[in-house]
Amino acid sequence: MVEELRPDLFRIKIPLPDSPLKFLNSYVVRSAGRNLVIDTGLNRKVCLEAMKAGLEELKIDPDRTDFFITHLHADHFGLVSRLIAGSSRVYFNRPDAEIIEAWPGWDPMLAYAAENGFPEEELRRAIEQHPGFKFSSEWVPELHIQHDGDIIDVGDYHFRCVHTPGHTLGHTCLYEQEKKILVAGDHILIDITPNIQCWSEIQNPLKSYLASLDLVRDLEVDLALPGHRRLITDHRSRIDELKEHHHRRCDEILRIMSNGVMTAYEIASQMTWDIKCDSWEAFPLAQKWFATGEAISHLRYLKEKGQIDRTRENKLYMYHSIDRVPGKGAELR
Ligand SMILES: [Zn+2]
Repeated sequence: MVEELRPDLFRIKIPLPDSPLKFLNSYVVRSAGRNLVIDTGLNRKVCLEAMKAGLEELKIDPDRTDFFITHLHADHFGLVSRLIAGSSRVYFNRPDAEIIEAWPGWDPMLAYAAENGFPEEELRRAIEQHPGFKFSSEWVPELHIQHDGDIIDVGDYHFRCVHTPGHTLGHTCLYEQEKKILVAGDHILIDITPNIQCWSEIQNPLKSYLASLDLVRDLEVDLALPGHRRLITDHRSRIDELKEHHHRRCDEILRIMSNGVMTAYEIASQMTWDIKCDSWEAFPLAQKWFATGEAISHLRYLKEKGQIDRTRENKLYMYHSIDRVPGKGAELR
């Protein structure tokens, strides 16, 4: 289904079956010169068919079309390699490109999840259900790296790249200053909150995300075009809600931690999640994975602020509130 949102600016809804995201919003900017397609969908048949039908309806010639991908997740990046023609450029950001180029496989993430209490017997199956495992691009096309502040001109549209780390390290929005349009990717969503996960020791994604929200809040925006769900007309109210959501999450985690010393997985199992499941045990494994990653990002944020601490016991990271004395023999980190 194709909708015209503004002159020569269209949305194609790409279905994402079995995903709570429901569909991906792919945006197409048409021009007499080169066209631009922003985000593509998963590398699977149902997405390819929806995209091809939309592009045909708009009479988009692949040979005159470039692509901009907001971030590395498979529902945005996965399909691009099947859509490009010989002359197509794929605009992308440097930090996410480095993750793709230096991709060590899933093993380091699996090991890190195990250190955070994810049960060994669930780990491999959790990854096998992960959309990034099932529906990634088989190969990576040549990427044209864009930096913060770079401009991409398409017809009457002049998009500025705005680096918004948080949802991923390199996540990048596009801002059309004169038309007050923001292509938001997964930085701002409505009805659902963008997933902020942490799977390494060296980052603080939630801190980056909150700073990126402030950055975008300062922009004059009449229409924000998110990667999923409905379009956003009042981006500042939504940003305020998202900031409030994460602060409430931090408070919830502090309350949970007053019950004892726990792994991130145990904390995630006690947090409230907006999902139709009766219990944590009934969660689909991929959702347990996302929830644990989200718990870790909040724990990292709280630890760097000095509100909680962490010990290493056997092979596990154990989190505790700052006034709780860790168990005897625990090594403080
Ligand atoms: Zn994403």
